[in-house]
Amino acid sequence: MHSPFTPEPSPDDRAERDFTAGDGPGLRSPAPGADRTPLTFDVIIAGCGPTGATLAAELRLHDVRVLVLEKETEPKSFVRIVGLHIRTIELMAMRGLLERIAQHGRRRPAGGFFAAVDKPAPEGLDSAHAYLLGIPQPVIERLLEEHAIALGAQVRHGCAVAGFEQDDEGVTVELAGGERLRSRYLVGCDGGRSTVRKLLGVGFPGEPSRTETLMGEMEAGVPQEEITAKVTEVNETRKPFQLRPFGGGVYGVVVPALGVSDRAEPPTLEDFRQALRAIAGTDFGVHSPRWLSRFGDATRLAERYRVGRVLLAGDAAHIHPPIGGQGLNLGVQDAFNLGWKLAAQIRGWAPEALLDTYQAERHPVAADVLDNTRAQMELLSTEPGPQAVRRLLTELMDIEEVNRRLIEKITAIGIRYDFGEGPDLLGRRLRDIDVKQGNLYGLLHRGRGLLLDRTERLTAGGWSDRVDYLADPTASLDVPCFLLRPDGHVAWIGDDQRDLDDHLSRWFGNPAN
Ligand SMILES: Cc1cc2nc3c(=O)[nH]c(=O)nc-3n(C[C@H](O)[C@H](O)[C@H](O)COP(=O)(O)OP(=O)(O)OC[C@H]3O[C@@H](n4cnc5c(N)ncnc54)[C@H](O)[C@@H]3O)c2cc1C
Repeated sequence: MHSPFTPEPSPDDRAERDFTAGDGPGLRSPAPGADRTPLTFDVIIAGCGPTGATLAAELRLHDVRVLVLEKETEPKSFVRIVGLHIRTIELMAMRGLLERIAQHGRRRPAGGFFAAVDKPAPEGLDSAHAYLLGIPQPVIERLLEEHAIALGAQVRHGCAVAGFEQDDEGVTVELAGGERLRSRYLVGCDGGRSTVRKLLGVGFPGEPSRTETLMGEMEAGVPQEEITAKVTEVNETRKPFQLRPFGGGVYGVVVPALGVSDRAEPPTLEDFRQALRAIAGTDFGVHSPRWLSRFGDATRLAERYRVGRVLLAGDAAHIHPPIGGQGLNLGVQDAFNLGWKLAAQIRGWAPEALLDTYQAERHPVAADVLDNTRAQMELLSTEPGPQAVRRLLTELMDIEEVNRRLIEKITAIGIRYDFGEGPDLLGRRLRDIDVKQGNLYGLLHRGRGLLLDRTERLTAGGWSDRVDYLADPTASLDVPCFLLRPDGHVAWIGDDQRDLDDHLSRWFGNPAN
């Protein structure tokens, strides 16, 4: 790999010159006085959260020159434990990262996540990684950032994106301190309050927060037995209230806030005391907070994921309540979908409109997550109506197909992109399978396409610079051959070379020779 910081342009900017798709609001027309600052980077990413760091790594697999700008100087102080669901675990395995990440996480059963209805996952989920991996968010963020840096991404902390302008050739990004940088593309991975999305003028319609929850770690001034008894009593009517002992006198506190502030700043200890008194009649003498945080239940989805040379991913594009633990997973999966397409655009081999399939594929997935989290929030309500629906759903989840459908939603293994008519597997992600070299995911570390040929008659021919070829009549799959995209989704199934060539062109552009 060459250095990502060499100032020369990418080897093939053919697609850049032809590029016109997606023009719209926020796209400034090229002016004689357009910014002539050298295009030092191919892509600038605003925000080094899980989405930004993952995207940076995916782009680096294709030698794209990446700069990540992160406004914070220090890692996040709050230690939210997040769950990596099956599809994200699979993606980590596909890039050779899983072993490292798993050392820091704790495996839990995959079931019991939909609205916290206590049902085990059905037998035989279609994955080699059918479990949940619980891991502190700061740890997964650090590991993803280290991975991006190891691949050659540049990350600058303490640099907030404050403005940008785009023209036909690139984007000029302005930092809070006034420094200006130039790249071909800008991706806003800067979270739910995204500056990039706001400056882009992209609408973020949806529902505002109706409730807010305070979450933190602190010490308590009363004995543990007293706390446990009170929590048990309150939980009979109010579920989202917890004081969980973490040892050493420290408790993890989750309590409904007294109102909806919709503020970015963390709450105060006094906010916690008042909220605890309101729900439990006592504030348990809480003191010495380790960290304090808040979250709401707003659901919003960006109207567009792309305006010209500026794109949105992760929480910058969609927000929803944390129930079911899907937000980080959704953002990481956005990054896997976008990474290779944006890289293809920059390397010059992207078929027309490939980049726009990012929104076409991912927007409906986010809309579905917004829907399922909204539904789950309703099912948590203590009102009699929602409680009756909850009892009915609990009963229905005894039907294996119902339980399976809900788990496939939460874990994202049920996603099927619309690639047109074809067998059920077309458009779906493929589970890891045994192949003659070991396992399939082991062949996907470099983020390239893969043609797996059980007939030993086909070839990836002129696309071999982008698509690997594996002849393996023994591969444990019930189709003659398949073509996998770099994000692991099945792009073609068949045994005819001409049909295959059409599909290679569709996803991987013109052959190199
Ligand atoms: C209580 C709770 C529990 C959760 N549990 C789960 C779970 O179990 N599983 C799960 O998948 N998700 C969970 N989530 C959701 C998850 O935390 C988020 O969806 C995830 O952090 C989104 O990642 P992101 O990278 O898109 O955005 P963020 O994590 O918000 O990262 C955005 C980054 O951009 C930076 N930034 C902001 N503005 C700028 C700027 N102008 N310039 C430069 N940088 C900027 C920020 O500092 C930040 O580092 C939970 C959320 C909450 C509140």
